[in-house]
Amino acid sequence: EGAVVFDNVSFSYDPRHPALKNISFAIPKGKTVALVGPSGGGKSTILRLLFRFYDVGSGRVLIDGQDIKLVKQESLRRNVGVVPQDTVLFNDTILYNIHYGNINAPEDDVYKAAKAAQIHDRILTFPDGYKTRVGERGLRLSGGEKQRVAIARTILKDPAIILLDEATSALDTTTERQIQHALASVTKDRTTLVIAHRLSTIVNADMILCIKDGEVAEQGTHDELLKNT
Ligand code: ADP
Ligand code: ADP
Repeated sequence: EGAVVFDNVSFSYDPRHPALKNISFAIPKGKTVALVGPSGGGKSTILRLLFRFYDVGSGRVLIDGQDIKLVKQESLRRNVGVVPQDTVLFNDTILYNIHYGNINAPEDDVYKAAKAAQIHDRILTFPDGYKTRVGERGLRLSGGEKQRVAIARTILKDPAIILLDEATSALDTTTERQIQHALASVTKDRTTLVIAHRLSTIVNADMILCIKDGEVAEQGTHDELLKNT
């Protein structure tokens, strides 16, 4: 599960400036794909169409061969997990925040998800020396920690497809790489990862799609794209 196809997809917010122009590509299940390219190129729009925040103008988006217009909304929400750019957390414990939206998951799995998102041990130490336990109330998290909580929440949900929209761009490069590695290793070949990023700092991408002016400007592996430049 988790194969994604965009088949001649167009979409416009404003008919004078189409955001996506007849875009087609295929992502095999379990692969990690990076959407790169300049701001305004259409990366976020691709992700929004993929979880049906908007419907396509024309063309089709398929998940596992099925047009997502014909898939029940709940089943799409279950299959597609989104890690947003900014996450607003509840003023509660880290565990509560990871568990949120998935309250039936066993606590053991919550700890596993936390660990996978690099929330190590049960004690967190912040750059200012502040320590907390993942089960303690009163969050004082940095942007990076919040993103880890959001990623842990998505890992716990265990969807077939995970979308990250610049979710790690605000972090320093080392943290960003750690998180991308962690995510890739926990999801392995089971989960399709689609990561939108202004810069091509994505590690471990099986395929890179360069999106520019609403079109696929280039497509290939990291090495293939390097050869062309
Ligand atoms: P990227 O994610 O690559 O930065 P976007 O998908 O956000 O690109 O944007 C593609 C185009 O659509 C841009 O021209 C952008 O200004 C426009 N756009 C994006 N979101 C909206 C919106 N909510 N309303 C109107 N236009 C939008
Ligand atoms: P991105 O997250 O792709 O970088 P931006 O930061 O440019 O998008 O956009 C922030 C918000 O503004 C998003 O909700 C997006 O949908 C909206 N937006 C982006 N471009 C436009 C636009 N041209 N007109 C209206 N809203 C837009």
